[in-house]
Amino acid sequence: MFTGKTVLVTGGSRGIGRAIALAFAAQGARVAVNYRSSHAAAQATLAQLEGAGHILAPADVTDPAAVEALITSVVAQLGRLDILINNAAIYEEHPLTDVSYEQWQAAWQAHLQANLISAANLIYCAAHHMIPRGGGRIVNVSSRGAFRGEPRAPAYGASKAGLNALSGSLAQLLAPHGVFLHTVAPGFVETDMAADLLSSPAGDSIRSQSPLGRVALPEEVAHVVLFLASEQAAFATGAIVDVNGASYLRM
Ligand code: NAP
Repeated sequence: MFTGKTVLVTGGSRGIGRAIALAFAAQGARVAVNYRSSHAAAQATLAQLEGAGHILAPADVTDPAAVEALITSVVAQLGRLDILINNAAIYEEHPLTDVSYEQWQAAWQAHLQANLISAANLIYCAAHHMIPRGGGRIVNVSSRGAFRGEPRAPAYGASKAGLNALSGSLAQLLAPHGVFLHTVAPGFVETDMAADLLSSPAGDSIRSQSPLGRVALPEEVAHVVLFLASEQAAFATGAIVDVNGASYLRM
């Protein structure tokens, strides 16, 4: 389905990003696997990708200059960029009742920079490449927490709510340029990010939030990302698609 297409997956070394990279490669795309520091994990992901022509694209997406260099480098190596997947993010708990004021401020700075401003910068640089070439696809990985609340990590929830708003605003601006933006909002997913919580005494209660009695697999999120990145999903631009096993319904 994606033969001849090129894709940049931020945070592609592990978890959901790795599943997205594997799924695109299995559908014929050439993939750039971005990561921050897990070189061995990124190498392992690269080695598992079907087909040829994939690359590693290390960069800390919280650094605006590194983001610009990342897009330039991916375009130079893959020839162009058709699809951007904004997946990289952090989740660090900072309950207001337990942290110092300094820790509180640091958490807000870190989450907004990693989860929202990074995505805005990646979209800026990617869109300026896509627009003159007739368009492209951007899928942002958000979170159920934007809607349901994140009492122990409010900056994370706010960063994802901001990502949703960013995606909708730019879907409106960029549609006439052939650039379509979509968002997926997963509930809990079996990855490193959720591992501590899922293996804690709270794990069973988290799994029971869904009538399926489990959390998502990374591959289930990847499947929806690929659908949204497909040519046929253009008219779903601006949409936010829940992948949460009916654990939280927005109606
Ligand atoms: P994960 O297992 O913690 O992996 C995070 C990925 O992001 C890694 O590849 C990491 O690179 C990369 N990353 C983090 N900061 C970065 C930076 N500054 N620059 C470049 N790469 C960076 O996370 P995940 O669970 O797969 O989550 C993926 C996405 O799904 C995130 O947007 C997350 O908010 C969202 N999500 C996850 C869940 C869940 O339950 N897991 C639920 C809802 C939404 P390194 O390997 O180099 O560290």
